[in-house]
Amino acid sequence: MLFSSLSVAPPDPILGLGAKFQADGRPEKINLSGGVYQDASGQTPILASVRQAAARLLETETSKSYLGIAGHSGFLEQAAGLVLGAAWEPERSVAIQAPGGTGACRVAAELMASKLGSRRVWVSDPTWANHAAIFSAAGLQVLTHRYLDASRTRLDFEGMLDQLRTEAEPGDLICLHACCHNPTGIDLTAQQWLQLGTFLAEQRLFPLVDFAYLGFGDGLEADRLGLQQLLSQVPEALICASFSKNFGLYSERIGIVLGIAETAAAANALGSPLKVVVRANYSNPPRHGAALVHAVLADPELRALWQSELDAMRQRISDMRNEFVERMTGLQQAHNFEFLLHQKGMFSFSGLNPLQVDWLQAHRAVYLVGSGRINVAGMTPQNLPRLTQAIAEALQLASSS
Ligand code: PMP
Repeated sequence: MLFSSLSVAPPDPILGLGAKFQADGRPEKINLSGGVYQDASGQTPILASVRQAAARLLETETSKSYLGIAGHSGFLEQAAGLVLGAAWEPERSVAIQAPGGTGACRVAAELMASKLGSRRVWVSDPTWANHAAIFSAAGLQVLTHRYLDASRTRLDFEGMLDQLRTEAEPGDLICLHACCHNPTGIDLTAQQWLQLGTFLAEQRLFPLVDFAYLGFGDGLEADRLGLQQLLSQVPEALICASFSKNFGLYSERIGIVLGIAETAAAANALGSPLKVVVRANYSNPPRHGAALVHAVLADPELRALWQSELDAMRQRISDMRNEFVERMTGLQQAHNFEFLLHQKGMFSFSGLNPLQVDWLQAHRAVYLVGSGRINVAGMTPQNLPRLTQAIAEALQLASSS
């Protein structure tokens, strides 16, 4: 029989860990492996601004009929302005709604592969685990470029450019994380973004920018700066943004693809093939997440509330990051964690090796991804003392073996 020949795919390394954590009966367990924001009580909340927007929608929505292929027009306008800020030139851009940042990456990649003849995409080593799967499913060959120095705690920007200069070919796509690089938390500076923009334009490499954490780094304005610098140098780009994290709308699947063209005519031409890609995939996008984001952004009061909630999420992550480093420094001096203070967003590379990660899970019920990536939002004032103690012990273990 056909189906019996199928082999079971290995569990997703991150989602699989989440299931294991749920099944772990130890009450003191700590989960730093997840990919979602958690508040100080370990919950992934519905934002008050979103809840109020949902209440309004319940009163005012009159139909659940299909959206157009491009999505919710009010959402598209608000979202484009939010993502691009002062760099938004409506006549040079085209926007299309997508089911989450994942859907946006898939639509963008499929557009490039099936309509524009792209064959290869470069991703950083390391990158978000799903990038390779999404891009290769869209028909692109996935190649990796250097991103970190030998310590794996700092950016090797020159190394990245050197490799792309010698190995990338004109027309190749370069996937970039606009801010809060996942999994490392290590971002380019504004100056480096500018330099990268010039480099990409010179080498005729095409930027595909993944923007999943707008507002989680240093704030809306600051987090957009790198992308704006890049766009000041390149004639064309695709941006895939997600509203899962900054609006807490993970399960509503809301994202956007923004195409930036050299001219208004080119932007106009780009709309049609984008819609063809969407039509053949899921026909048209879901309404609710788009309606929520629109309702929040279009109302000055809800928008201000949302911004304060976003600021609070960012502040909590930053507080936990600082307290973690302070406690680790207090507990031991052999391993300096200060590099974590320069990392942005929810994720950080802790520098813990797979042996230490396994030990933490088996003996201290602390869950981390095998690469040593930690979700800083999994830290709380309550679990930090136990967590840092456990990590200090794990570090000990490696140095004594
Ligand atoms: N890109 C990156 C870098 C991400 O970390 C994520 C979420 N983990 C996504 C895209 C996808 O986001 P969404 O959940 O909106 O599909």
